[in-house]
Amino acid sequence: MAKLIIVPTPIGNLEDITLRAIRVLREADLILAEDTRTTSVLLRHLGIEKPMRAHHKFNEHAAVGAVADEIAAGRSVALVSDAGTPGISDPGFLLVRTCVERGIEVETLPGPTAFVPALVQSGFPCDRFCFEGFLPQKKGRTKRLAALAAEERTMVFYESPYRVVKCLAQMAELFGSERRVSVSRELTKRFEETVRGTLAEVLEHFRTTEPRGEFVLVVAGRSRADDAEKTDEDGEEHEEA
Ligand code: SAM
Repeated sequence: MAKLIIVPTPIGNLEDITLRAIRVLREADLILAEDTRTTSVLLRHLGIEKPMRAHHKFNEHAAVGAVADEIAAGRSVALVSDAGTPGISDPGFLLVRTCVERGIEVETLPGPTAFVPALVQSGFPCDRFCFEGFLPQKKGRTKRLAALAAEERTMVFYESPYRVVKCLAQMAELFGSERRVSVSRELTKRFEETVRGTLAEVLEHFRTTEPRGEFVLVVAGRSRADDAEKTDEDGEEHEEA
């Protein structure tokens, strides 16, 4: 039976593509790609030639119905994004939802995504966590962060290198400068690096070392220690949860 297959692709190191992903790309009737030029480079590397069509945030609303029709008519369609897992801060959700609503089979392959290695190597609890993806760039940004100040689970954010310093500064203000953070950049690539410390320390680091590349910020959830710090700051006791 034809289906929609979600295919994760490497976030840097090409060795991270799975054997299954390669087979699925080889067997699909059509590949939907966020950027056909980016995916062409990967397919060339894998020696795969396949019909490809652009599927990105600017056309996905209009395109999902027709894609679902094609799958229903018997064509197997693989969806890839520029890097990592489609649907994770990338196009994919709308197409998956449409297929699910229409009873079309969806198969999601496990594979590369940036937040999992960043979370696991942060050293913060990862038995429970919340993935926040990109914060709003302007409207609603402070409100969103303020709402997360009380979050007790480890939090994961994607951020552009141009806003890393601003983001750390806002977090220091709203979460407290002693809250711990782990910033991973260029995961799986040559200049991969993880900087850990308090928000104040890591902010100072990136104020003096220009942030370059792709970033994941992992922030420790609120702990009782944060509450104690808050008590010291305003001289009042806070009820424990
Ligand atoms: N679909 C992707 C995934 O599964 O992780 C995410 C795509 S989103 C448009 C791009 C963001 O993911 C970047 O701005 C960065 O925050 C994060 N990212 C992607 N690749 C990364 C890498 N190699 N190292 C660190 N962060 C990365």
